[in-house]
Amino acid sequence: MRITFPGVGEAFDARLANTCLLLEGADESSLLLDCGFTAAAAFWQHAADPLKLDAVCLSHFHGDHWFGLPWLLVRSIEEGRTANLTIIGQEGVEERVRTLMDMAYPGTLDRAGFAVRFLTSAPDRMLDVAGTRLRFAASDHSVPCLAVRVRQDETDVFFSGDGRPTPQTEALARGCAVVVHEAYAMDAASPGHGTVERAVQLARNAGAETLALVHVQRTLRHEQMERLNEYVQDISDLRVLLPEPGEVLLVDV
Ligand SMILES: [Zn+2]
Ligand SMILES: [Zn+2]
Repeated sequence: MRITFPGVGEAFDARLANTCLLLEGADESSLLLDCGFTAAAAFWQHAADPLKLDAVCLSHFHGDHWFGLPWLLVRSIEEGRTANLTIIGQEGVEERVRTLMDMAYPGTLDRAGFAVRFLTSAPDRMLDVAGTRLRFAASDHSVPCLAVRVRQDETDVFFSGDGRPTPQTEALARGCAVVVHEAYAMDAASPGHGTVERAVQLARNAGAETLALVHVQRTLRHEQMERLNEYVQDISDLRVLLPEPGEVLLVDV
């Protein structure tokens, strides 16, 4: 599996696009996890063939995780996309996306040369989409957020979306080779958000080989990178990454 990090930033980082992940399988299937305000353009820039995207999975309905959909959909329409696209999100996803599209570019979705299929994610649900199997668990965030476990090419990847770990997300992450976790703060608890320390703990408990820290608070990410790097370098039992935009992680079976 190939994991690309087009965006690694938090909601309002002016230098880093909103966190999103592109997962591509050996069968050429591709899945985008989250699509915030600034994520769609970053995805377009870093994907080899953005029109081949099979599905988008939204962790929750905060703007930095799904407001990039009008950009993604209208650009796809303008480029002549014909393949159907699947959008996965929590209960009400279809109504929300249609409303968002009507507000941004009225009528465009109806004129698209492809169909958009909607699937609903839920903690007790398993979805098979674009060569992957998806499972979900609720994190501790200010609005309902579902972390996702993606199985593709015999490999399991966990992505937190936003929020602190919960017993449910801990259980979902267990056995994943790669954990991608939001780490908004260094160590102090920030309401509804994770920390670097807690992400490391979750990845250790999961038995992961690699932890990628994303969605880091902008001041911490830009002005205290040395502190972050020092902390990360002291960890010897886990490979911890602070991916740069466009960085690629290849995961072998
Ligand atoms: Zn966010
Ligand atoms: Zn959020």
